Parts: sequence; C-alpha cells; structure tokens
Amino acid sequence: MGKLSCGGCGYAMVYKPLRPGNKYPRFECSRHSILKIPECCTYFRADILEETVLFMINKELMLLGEAAQQEEKLAKFQKSEMKDMKNQMSSLCMDKKRAEDSLGILYEKYAMGEMTQEEYRKRAGEAADETKKLLEQIKACSKEISRLSEELEKLQVDMRQVIRFTHMEKLTKELVEVFIRKIYVYKDKRVEIVWCWTAN
Ligand SMILES: [Zn+2]
Repeated sequence: MGKLSCGGCGYAMVYKPLRPGNKYPRFECSRHSILKIPECCTYFRADILEETVLFMINKELMLLGEAAQQEEKLAKFQKSEMKDMKNQMSSLCMDKKRAEDSLGILYEKYAMGEMTQEEYRKRAGEAADETKKLLEQIKACSKEISRLSEELEKLQVDMRQVIRFTHMEKLTKELVEVFIRKIYVYKDKRVEIVWCWTAN
C-alpha cells in the first residue's frame, strides 16, 4: 500500500508478515530504526488498520450519499426549470412568427389601398419593434437553456460516481484507489485519511 505513511516522519510504512516475535501481521515505519524520530508510529497492526480504514470509508460514503441526495433534489428542480424555459421558448417563437406575419398582412392591406401610407408606416414600425423585442427575449432564453443544461450535465456526472458505491463490507483495492489519496498512522494509533474527493 504505497498510500500508507508514518504520521511522525512522513516516510512509508512497510508491511511485515507474520514471523516469530510478532503475533500479528503489521506495518512498520520504514525509517524509524535509522532516524529514531520519537513521534514515529513504530508499528500498526494490519488487521486493525484495515478495519479502521473500512469504517472510515463507510462513514465517508454515508456523507457522500447524503450529498448525492441533495444533488438529486437540485437536479429535479433544474429539470423542471428547464421544462418551463423550453415552454417559454416555444411561445416566444410563436409570438415572433405572428409578429412577422402581421408585417406581411399590413403590407398587403396597404398595397390594396386599405390604409394610408402614414398608418401603414406607424403600424409596420410597431410590428418591427415587437419582432426585435421578441428576438432579444429568444436570445436570452436560449442562453439560459444552455446554461441550465451544462449545470445539469455536470451534476449528473458527479452523482454517478457516488451512486456506484454504497455501504462496503470489505476493503478492496478499488475502494482505496477511488477514495483515498493518503493514509497517515500515528504513534497514538490514530488513523488519518486524505480523501480523493469529499462531500462538500
Ligand atoms: Zn516514522
């Protein structure tokens, strides 16, 4: 386990299998015999370390699970917001189409002599302003839609990583690889874990 270090000196702990004089397989500080740093964790029982690390991982998984649930709620909210935005977008597009059509109709009426030039100019100007305003709203709306979909995408990737793991019964290599950056063991038999990523 290259991730295991002595909290006293910072050097690696090395695995020592069963042998006469040691009742249990254990990890020993690789430098204590040379450096004699008093704070070194001279040895740590392998079975106790495994149990402790598994317990700490499961605790962390619980926190991550709670965070994932929060993210799921957020994702649901964002999905409904997205639906609203898309509805708003389609009604804006219909309004814009209507405004453009009315410009054409106005022109026909004017051409048929059904309205004066002055009236035509006034109403055509209004219709053009309306179209312009709608176009701006459509732009803003589509910007918001792409922002929302980016956020949703990111959220779903984070969640997928957490949902892969729930409560673990055994400490596996994969579990350690995915969650743990470093483990420090101390003289007082305290274990400290530096996580790869945490529930924030
Ligand atoms: Zn040490």
